[in-house]
Amino acid sequence: MARHLTGSAATSVARRLEGALFATEIRERVASDVAAYTQAHGHPPGLAVVVCGRSAPSMVYLERILKACAQVGIERTFVDVEGSTAAQQERELAAAIKRLNADPQVNGIIVQQPLPAGVRLRTVIDAIDPLKDIDGIHPLNAGLLRLGYEGFIPATAHAALEMVHRSGVEVVGANAVVIGRSPVVGMPLASMLVREHATVTVCHSKTRDLAAKVRAADIVVVAAGQPGLVTGHMLKPGAVVVDVGINVVDGKIVGDVDFDSAVGVAAAITPVPGGVGPLTNALLLSHVMRAAQRQEDAAPAAGQDSPR
Ligand code: NAP
Repeated sequence: MARHLTGSAATSVARRLEGALFATEIRERVASDVAAYTQAHGHPPGLAVVVCGRSAPSMVYLERILKACAQVGIERTFVDVEGSTAAQQERELAAAIKRLNADPQVNGIIVQQPLPAGVRLRTVIDAIDPLKDIDGIHPLNAGLLRLGYEGFIPATAHAALEMVHRSGVEVVGANAVVIGRSPVVGMPLASMLVREHATVTVCHSKTRDLAAKVRAADIVVVAAGQPGLVTGHMLKPGAVVVDVGINVVDGKIVGDVDFDSAVGVAAAITPVPGGVGPLTNALLLSHVMRAAQRQEDAAPAAGQDSPR
Protein backbone atom coordinates (compact mmCIF):
# COMPACT_ATOMS: atom_id res chain seq x y z
CA MET A 1 0.00 0.00 0.00
CA ALA A 2 1.28 3.49 -0.84
CA ARG A 3 2.30 5.61 2.11
CA HIS A 4 4.13 8.76 3.05
CA LEU A 5 7.65 8.02 4.21
CA THR A 6 8.61 10.83 6.54
CA GLY A 7 9.84 11.73 10.01
CA SER A 8 11.18 8.80 11.97
CA ALA A 9 13.12 7.45 8.99
CA ALA A 10 15.69 10.19 9.73
CA THR A 11 17.54 8.05 12.23
CA SER A 12 17.32 4.76 10.34
CA VAL A 13 19.15 3.49 7.29
CA ALA A 14 17.34 3.84 3.96
CA ARG A 15 15.95 0.81 2.22
CA ARG A 16 18.06 -0.02 -0.83
CA LEU A 17 15.95 -0.24 -3.96
CA GLU A 18 17.77 -3.06 -5.73
CA GLY A 19 17.34 -2.80 -9.49
CA ALA A 20 18.63 -6.31 -10.13
CA LEU A 21 15.88 -7.84 -7.99
CA PHE A 22 13.10 -5.92 -9.76
CA ALA A 23 14.72 -6.56 -13.14
CA THR A 24 14.67 -10.32 -12.60
CA GLU A 25 10.95 -10.20 -11.92
CA ILE A 26 10.31 -8.12 -15.08
CA ARG A 27 12.53 -10.34 -17.25
CA GLU A 28 10.64 -13.44 -16.07
CA ARG A 29 7.35 -11.83 -17.11
CA VAL A 30 8.79 -10.78 -20.47
CA ALA A 31 10.26 -14.27 -21.08
CA SER A 32 6.84 -15.80 -20.59
CA ASP A 33 5.22 -13.24 -22.96
CA VAL A 34 7.97 -13.86 -25.52
CA ALA A 35 7.37 -17.62 -25.35
CA ALA A 36 3.63 -17.14 -25.96
CA TYR A 37 4.29 -14.71 -28.84
CA THR A 38 6.82 -17.07 -30.42
CA GLN A 39 4.41 -19.96 -30.25
CA ALA A 40 1.61 -17.92 -31.80
CA HIS A 41 3.70 -16.38 -34.60
CA GLY A 42 6.29 -19.04 -35.35
CA HIS A 43 9.11 -16.57 -34.68
CA PRO A 44 10.19 -14.51 -31.68
CA PRO A 45 9.77 -10.74 -31.36
CA GLY A 46 12.86 -8.87 -32.51
CA LEU A 47 14.98 -5.94 -31.38
CA ALA A 48 17.44 -4.13 -33.64
CA VAL A 49 20.32 -2.20 -32.15
CA VAL A 50 21.91 0.35 -34.45
CA VAL A 51 25.41 1.58 -33.75
CA CYS A 52 26.97 4.51 -35.53
CA GLY A 53 30.57 5.06 -34.46
CA ARG A 54 31.60 3.13 -31.37
CA SER A 55 32.02 4.72 -27.97
CA ALA A 56 33.05 2.46 -25.09
CA PRO A 57 30.32 3.32 -22.49
CA SER A 58 27.43 3.06 -24.92
CA MET A 59 28.79 -0.19 -26.34
CA VAL A 60 28.78 -1.66 -22.82
CA TYR A 61 25.15 -0.55 -22.43
CA LEU A 62 24.16 -2.04 -25.79
CA GLU A 63 26.00 -5.30 -25.16
CA ARG A 64 24.05 -5.68 -21.91
CA ILE A 65 20.80 -5.16 -23.78
CA LEU A 66 21.72 -7.74 -26.41
CA LYS A 67 22.66 -10.24 -23.69
CA ALA A 68 19.37 -9.61 -21.90
CA CYS A 69 17.46 -10.18 -25.16
CA ALA A 70 19.13 -13.57 -25.51
CA GLN A 71 18.10 -14.47 -21.94
CA VAL A 72 14.40 -13.86 -22.60
CA GLY A 73 14.31 -15.19 -26.17
CA ILE A 74 14.05 -11.90 -28.10
CA GLU A 75 15.74 -12.09 -31.51
CA ARG A 76 18.59 -9.60 -31.93
CA THR A 77 19.78 -7.72 -34.98
CA PHE A 78 22.95 -5.67 -34.71
CA VAL A 79 23.56 -3.01 -37.36
CA ASP A 80 26.93 -1.27 -37.53
CA VAL A 81 26.60 1.88 -39.62
CA GLU A 82 29.67 2.80 -41.64
CA GLY A 83 30.80 6.00 -43.30
CA SER A 84 33.92 8.11 -43.17
CA THR A 85 32.14 11.48 -42.93
CA ALA A 86 29.21 12.63 -40.80
CA ALA A 87 27.10 13.21 -43.96
CA GLN A 88 27.80 9.66 -45.15
CA GLN A 89 27.03 8.25 -41.70
CA GLU A 90 23.72 10.14 -41.63
CA ARG A 91 22.73 8.72 -45.01
CA GLU A 92 23.68 5.19 -43.98
CA LEU A 93 21.94 5.59 -40.62
CA ALA A 94 18.68 6.74 -42.21
CA ALA A 95 18.83 3.93 -44.78
CA ALA A 96 19.49 1.30 -42.07
CA ILE A 97 16.57 2.52 -39.93
CA LYS A 98 14.23 2.50 -42.93
CA ARG A 99 15.22 -1.09 -43.74
CA LEU A 100 14.50 -2.08 -40.13
CA ASN A 101 11.16 -0.23 -40.19
CA ALA A 102 10.15 -2.40 -43.15
CA ASP A 103 11.33 -5.67 -41.59
CA PRO A 104 8.31 -7.39 -40.00
CA GLN A 105 10.54 -9.46 -37.74
CA VAL A 106 12.01 -6.34 -36.14
CA ASN A 107 9.58 -4.93 -33.58
CA GLY A 108 11.79 -2.45 -31.76
CA ILE A 109 14.70 -0.27 -32.79
CA ILE A 110 17.20 1.50 -30.58
CA VAL A 111 20.00 3.67 -31.82
CA GLN A 112 23.18 4.11 -29.83
CA GLN A 113 23.53 7.50 -28.19
CA PRO A 114 25.37 9.76 -28.12
CA LEU A 115 25.78 9.79 -31.89
CA PRO A 116 29.20 10.72 -33.27
CA ALA A 117 29.98 14.44 -33.59
CA GLY A 118 28.24 15.93 -36.62
CA VAL A 119 25.63 13.18 -36.91
CA ARG A 120 22.28 14.74 -36.03
CA LEU A 121 19.75 12.97 -33.81
CA ARG A 122 17.22 14.50 -36.18
CA THR A 123 18.31 11.88 -38.74
CA VAL A 124 17.07 9.13 -36.42
CA ILE A 125 13.93 11.01 -35.46
CA ASP A 126 12.99 11.58 -39.09
CA ALA A 127 13.56 7.95 -40.02
CA ILE A 128 12.30 5.80 -37.13
CA ASP A 129 8.79 4.33 -37.19
CA PRO A 130 7.08 5.62 -33.99
CA LEU A 131 5.60 2.13 -33.49
CA LYS A 132 9.12 0.69 -33.31
CA ASP A 133 10.58 3.58 -31.29
CA ILE A 134 10.82 1.62 -28.03
CA ASP A 135 13.01 4.23 -26.32
CA GLY A 136 10.52 7.02 -26.95
CA ILE A 137 12.72 9.48 -28.85
CA HIS A 138 10.26 10.23 -31.68
CA PRO A 139 8.30 13.49 -31.21
CA LEU A 140 5.05 11.58 -31.65
CA ASN A 141 5.86 9.47 -28.59
CA ALA A 142 7.11 12.51 -26.65
CA GLY A 143 3.89 14.34 -27.57
CA LEU A 144 1.67 11.40 -26.62
CA LEU A 145 3.34 11.34 -23.20
CA ARG A 146 2.79 15.06 -22.69
CA LEU A 147 -0.87 14.72 -23.70
CA GLY A 148 -1.40 11.71 -21.48
CA TYR A 149 -1.92 9.12 -24.23
CA GLU A 150 -0.25 5.77 -24.61
CA GLY A 151 3.03 5.74 -26.51
CA PHE A 152 6.61 4.72 -25.82
CA ILE A 153 8.46 6.41 -23.00
CA PRO A 154 12.24 6.46 -22.66
CA ALA A 155 13.28 3.35 -20.75
CA THR A 156 15.45 5.25 -18.26
CA ALA A 157 12.64 7.62 -17.29
CA HIS A 158 10.34 4.60 -17.03
CA ALA A 159 12.86 2.87 -14.74
CA ALA A 160 13.17 5.94 -12.50
CA LEU A 161 9.36 6.11 -12.18
CA GLU A 162 9.20 2.40 -11.45
CA MET A 163 11.72 2.91 -8.63
CA VAL A 164 9.55 5.68 -7.18
CA HIS A 165 6.56 3.31 -7.25
CA ARG A 166 8.52 0.45 -5.73
CA SER A 167 9.67 2.66 -2.85
CA GLY A 168 6.05 2.68 -1.69
CA VAL A 169 5.92 6.49 -1.38
CA GLU A 170 2.54 8.13 -1.94
CA VAL A 171 3.03 10.06 -5.21
CA VAL A 172 -0.30 11.86 -5.18
CA GLY A 173 0.28 15.28 -3.64
CA ALA A 174 4.00 14.63 -2.98
CA ASN A 175 6.62 17.29 -3.63
CA ALA A 176 8.99 15.87 -6.22
CA VAL A 177 12.24 17.37 -7.42
CA VAL A 178 13.71 16.16 -10.70
CA ILE A 179 17.29 17.31 -11.28
CA GLY A 180 18.00 17.29 -15.01
CA ARG A 181 15.81 18.36 -17.91
CA SER A 182 17.03 16.16 -20.75
CA PRO A 183 14.50 14.79 -23.24
CA VAL A 184 15.46 11.21 -22.33
CA VAL A 185 15.28 11.34 -18.54
CA GLY A 186 14.37 14.54 -16.69
CA MET A 187 11.55 15.93 -18.81
CA PRO A 188 9.63 12.70 -19.50
CA LEU A 189 9.92 11.74 -15.85
CA ALA A 190 8.65 15.15 -14.74
CA SER A 191 5.65 14.76 -17.11
CA MET A 192 4.85 11.34 -15.69
CA LEU A 193 5.09 12.51 -12.09
CA VAL A 194 2.80 15.47 -12.84
CA ARG A 195 0.37 13.04 -14.45
CA GLU A 196 0.44 11.02 -11.24
CA HIS A 197 -0.47 14.19 -9.29
CA ALA A 198 2.90 15.00 -7.73
CA THR A 199 3.90 18.66 -7.50
CA VAL A 200 7.07 18.69 -9.55
CA THR A 201 10.02 21.08 -9.58
CA VAL A 202 12.45 20.54 -12.45
CA CYS A 203 16.00 21.70 -11.62
CA HIS A 204 18.92 22.20 -14.00
CA SER A 205 22.35 23.77 -14.16
CA LYS A 206 20.95 27.31 -13.79
CA THR A 207 18.73 26.52 -10.80
CA ARG A 208 19.37 28.78 -7.81
CA ASP A 209 19.75 27.22 -4.38
CA LEU A 210 19.37 23.60 -5.42
CA ALA A 211 19.72 22.52 -1.77
CA ALA A 212 16.56 24.41 -0.77
CA LYS A 213 14.58 22.80 -3.59
CA VAL A 214 15.83 19.34 -2.65
CA ARG A 215 15.13 19.88 1.05
CA ALA A 216 11.44 20.49 0.32
CA ALA A 217 11.05 17.26 -1.66
CA ASP A 218 9.46 13.96 -0.66
CA ILE A 219 10.79 12.43 -3.88
CA VAL A 220 14.18 13.36 -5.34
CA VAL A 221 15.26 12.04 -8.74
CA VAL A 222 18.74 13.01 -9.85
CA ALA A 223 19.75 12.72 -13.51
CA ALA A 224 22.49 15.29 -13.96
CA GLY A 225 25.69 13.35 -14.58
CA GLN A 226 27.40 15.18 -11.67
CA PRO A 227 28.93 12.92 -9.00
CA GLY A 228 28.11 13.96 -5.44
CA LEU A 229 25.62 16.64 -6.56
CA VAL A 230 23.11 15.66 -3.87
CA THR A 231 24.31 14.93 -0.36
CA GLY A 232 22.53 13.73 2.75
CA HIS A 233 22.43 17.14 4.39
CA MET A 234 20.38 18.49 1.45
CA LEU A 235 17.66 15.87 1.89
CA LYS A 236 14.43 16.00 3.84
CA PRO A 237 14.46 13.11 6.34
CA GLY A 238 12.45 10.24 4.92
CA ALA A 239 12.71 11.33 1.29
CA VAL A 240 12.81 8.76 -1.50
CA VAL A 241 15.95 9.20 -3.59
CA VAL A 242 16.34 7.82 -7.11
CA ASP A 243 19.81 8.22 -8.55
CA VAL A 244 19.90 7.94 -12.34
CA GLY A 245 23.45 9.28 -12.75
CA ILE A 246 26.26 7.14 -14.06
CA ASN A 247 29.74 8.60 -13.61
CA VAL A 248 33.20 7.10 -13.50
CA VAL A 249 35.31 8.46 -10.65
CA ASP A 250 38.76 6.99 -9.99
CA GLY A 251 37.84 4.01 -12.13
CA LYS A 252 34.65 3.33 -10.14
CA ILE A 253 31.04 3.80 -11.26
CA VAL A 254 29.17 6.22 -9.02
CA GLY A 255 25.86 8.06 -9.22
CA ASP A 256 24.96 11.71 -8.71
CA VAL A 257 24.06 11.21 -5.05
CA ASP A 258 26.60 10.88 -2.26
CA PHE A 259 25.23 7.53 -1.17
CA ASP A 260 27.06 7.30 2.17
CA SER A 261 25.63 10.55 3.52
CA ALA A 262 22.18 10.09 1.92
CA VAL A 263 21.57 6.56 3.16
CA GLY A 264 21.19 7.71 6.77
CA VAL A 265 18.61 10.39 5.90
CA ALA A 266 16.48 8.95 3.10
CA ALA A 267 13.74 6.37 3.60
CA ALA A 268 14.62 4.57 0.37
CA ILE A 269 17.47 5.01 -2.10
CA THR A 270 18.71 3.43 -5.31
CA PRO A 271 22.37 2.35 -5.31
CA VAL A 272 24.71 3.02 -8.24
CA PRO A 273 25.60 0.66 -9.76
CA GLY A 274 22.76 -1.81 -9.29
CA GLY A 275 19.79 0.58 -9.11
CA VAL A 276 18.16 2.26 -12.08
CA GLY A 277 20.55 0.71 -14.67
CA PRO A 278 19.44 -2.95 -14.47
CA LEU A 279 15.80 -1.88 -14.30
CA THR A 280 16.20 0.26 -17.45
CA ASN A 281 17.58 -2.73 -19.28
CA ALA A 282 14.70 -5.01 -18.21
CA LEU A 283 12.03 -2.42 -19.00
CA LEU A 284 13.45 -1.96 -22.48
CA LEU A 285 12.78 -5.67 -23.09
CA SER A 286 9.20 -5.16 -21.95
CA HIS A 287 8.95 -2.27 -24.45
CA VAL A 288 9.97 -4.64 -27.28
CA MET A 289 7.19 -7.00 -26.28
CA ARG A 290 4.70 -4.16 -26.09
CA ALA A 291 5.82 -2.90 -29.50
CA ALA A 292 5.19 -6.35 -30.98
CA GLN A 293 1.69 -6.35 -29.50
CA ARG A 294 0.93 -2.79 -30.63
CA GLN A 295 2.11 -3.54 -34.17
CA GLU A 296 -0.17 -6.55 -34.24
CA ASP A 297 -3.09 -4.39 -33.08
CA ALA A 298 -2.28 -1.78 -35.75
CA ALA A 299 -1.96 -4.30 -38.60
CA PRO A 300 -5.01 -4.84 -40.83
CA ALA A 301 -6.75 -8.12 -40.00
CA ALA A 302 -6.17 -10.99 -42.45
CA GLY A 303 -8.45 -10.67 -45.48
CA GLN A 304 -9.21 -7.03 -44.75
CA ASP A 305 -8.60 -4.63 -47.65
CA SER A 306 -5.82 -2.14 -47.10
CA PRO A 307 -6.92 1.52 -47.26
CA ARG A 308 -6.85 3.03 -50.75
P1 NAP B 1 22.21 15.28 -20.01
O1 NAP B 1 21.48 15.27 -21.29
O2 NAP B 1 23.65 15.69 -19.97
O3 NAP B 1 21.39 16.20 -18.99
C1 NAP B 1 21.90 16.53 -17.74
C2 NAP B 1 20.95 17.46 -17.06
O4 NAP B 1 21.46 17.74 -15.77
C3 NAP B 1 20.79 18.81 -17.78
O5 NAP B 1 19.45 19.19 -17.78
C4 NAP B 1 21.64 19.75 -16.94
O6 NAP B 1 21.16 21.09 -16.90
C5 NAP B 1 21.49 19.15 -15.55
N1 NAP B 1 22.62 19.49 -14.72
C6 NAP B 1 23.95 19.37 -15.01
N2 NAP B 1 24.68 19.83 -13.98
C7 NAP B 1 23.82 20.26 -13.04
C8 NAP B 1 23.98 20.85 -11.76
N3 NAP B 1 25.18 21.10 -11.25
N4 NAP B 1 22.87 21.18 -11.06
C9 NAP B 1 21.64 20.91 -11.54
N5 NAP B 1 21.43 20.36 -12.76
C10 NAP B 1 22.51 20.04 -13.49
O7 NAP B 1 22.19 13.84 -19.33
P2 NAP B 1 21.08 12.65 -19.40
O8 NAP B 1 21.22 11.95 -20.69
O9 NAP B 1 19.76 13.17 -18.97
O10 NAP B 1 21.69 11.69 -18.29
C11 NAP B 1 21.78 12.11 -16.96
C12 NAP B 1 22.59 11.09 -16.17
O11 NAP B 1 21.91 9.84 -16.22
C13 NAP B 1 23.99 10.81 -16.73
O12 NAP B 1 24.86 10.55 -15.66
C14 NAP B 1 23.80 9.56 -17.56
O13 NAP B 1 25.00 8.82 -17.67
C15 NAP B 1 22.78 8.86 -16.73
N6 NAP B 1 21.97 7.88 -17.48
C16 NAP B 1 21.67 6.72 -16.84
C17 NAP B 1 20.90 5.77 -17.46
C18 NAP B 1 20.54 4.52 -16.70
O14 NAP B 1 20.02 3.55 -17.27
N7 NAP B 1 20.78 4.49 -15.38
C19 NAP B 1 20.45 5.97 -18.77
C20 NAP B 1 20.70 7.20 -19.39
C21 NAP B 1 21.47 8.14 -18.73
P3 NAP B 1 21.10 22.01 -18.22
O15 NAP B 1 19.90 21.55 -18.98
O16 NAP B 1 20.95 23.38 -17.68
O17 NAP B 1 22.38 21.78 -18.95
